[in-house]
Amino acid sequence: MSDRAFDVVVVGSCMTDLVSQAPRLPKAGETIHGHKFFIGFGGKGANQCIQAARLGVKTAMICKVGKDFFGDNYIQNFKDNDVHTDFVWQTSDAATGAASITVNDAVPWEGENAIVIVAGANMRLGEEELQKALTAIRKAKVLVCQLEISSQTSLRALQMAHDNKVRTIFNPAPAIPDLDFGFYRVSDVFCCNESEAELLTGYSVNNVEDAHQAAQELLRRGCTAVIITLGPQGCVVLKAQDKTSTHVPSTAVKAVDTTGAGDSFIGALAFYLAHHPDMPLEEMARRANQVAAVSVQAVGTQTSFPFKRDLPADLF
Ligand code: ADP
Repeated sequence: MSDRAFDVVVVGSCMTDLVSQAPRLPKAGETIHGHKFFIGFGGKGANQCIQAARLGVKTAMICKVGKDFFGDNYIQNFKDNDVHTDFVWQTSDAATGAASITVNDAVPWEGENAIVIVAGANMRLGEEELQKALTAIRKAKVLVCQLEISSQTSLRALQMAHDNKVRTIFNPAPAIPDLDFGFYRVSDVFCCNESEAELLTGYSVNNVEDAHQAAQELLRRGCTAVIITLGPQGCVVLKAQDKTSTHVPSTAVKAVDTTGAGDSFIGALAFYLAHHPDMPLEEMARRANQVAAVSVQAVGTQTSFPFKRDLPADLF
C-alpha cells in the first residue's frame, strides 16, 4: 500500500475540538452549567488534507494520534473522507491532540471563548515516521506542512520533498517570531494570513497595500512564491519571477463562520497545484478563494468544507 503515489501528502496535526457553550465563561475554581456540547474534527494539517480530498485528489496524511477513543475516531474520519491512513500512527505515550473550548454565547463564532490546546501526540511525530513514509513523500505531487507539530519535523518533511522535486506549500501557522530561514528556502508556495505575515515580517499588515509590502519581504527570504490571505478581500500573490504582486479579490458573500477558512483555502490550493500543475498561481488562488468563500457560509470547520459536488464545474 505504501508504494502508492498520492497527489497531495500532508504532514501535520490532528486535533479534537471539545466545544462547550455556556451563558458565560467559568471563573477559576468554579463549575457552571452549559447548554450545548459538541465534538469537532480539527487541526490545521488534517483540515487542509480533508479539503484537498473533498475536491477529488488522492491524499495521504502523515500524523500521530493517541491510542485512545479520539485517535480511533479521527482515523475513521480520515477514512470517511477518502484520506489514506497508512501513515497515521497511534501512540500510547500521549493523548490525541485536543482543544477544550468554552464559548460564552449562543452564537459560538461571535462569543468570547477560553481555549486550552494540548498538542499531545502531534508532538511525537518525528524523523522515524518521516522515514517510514519516505516513498509516499518522494512520489507525491504536492507536500503541505504547517507549524502545529514539531517545527523540526515540518522543516525536515519540507526538505525531503524539496530534495525530491516535490512541490511544497508551507503554511507558517501558528506563526513563530524567529522562523528558521530554512523554511523559506524549501517553500514553493509560502502561504499565510495577515497576522502571520505581520508577526513574521514585523510590518503591520492591515490592507492590500501592506500585504504587497510584506509579500516582498517574505519572498526576499528565499521562497519561490508568496500568498497572503486577506479574509473577505481574497489574497495577494507574489512570484519570484515577477517584480510586483497581484491582488486576487474574493467574491462578497455573507459569512456565518470563518473558522478554518485559511485551511479550506490551502487545501484547495494543494488540490490545484496537484491537479493543474501548469495553471498560473493567480488563477489557482482565484479558485481557492471561491472554495474558501463557500466554507465561510456554513458553521464549523471541516463540516463547512465543500465537496466537488457542491461547487461549480468551472472550478475543476
Ligand atoms: P485565516 O482563516 O487563516 O484567518 P483568512 O481569514 O485570510 O484566513 O481567510 C482565508 C481565505 O478565506 C481568504 O483568502 C478568502 O478566500 C476566504 N475568506 C475568508 N473570509 C471570507 C469572507 N468573509 N468572504 C469571502 N471569503 C472569505
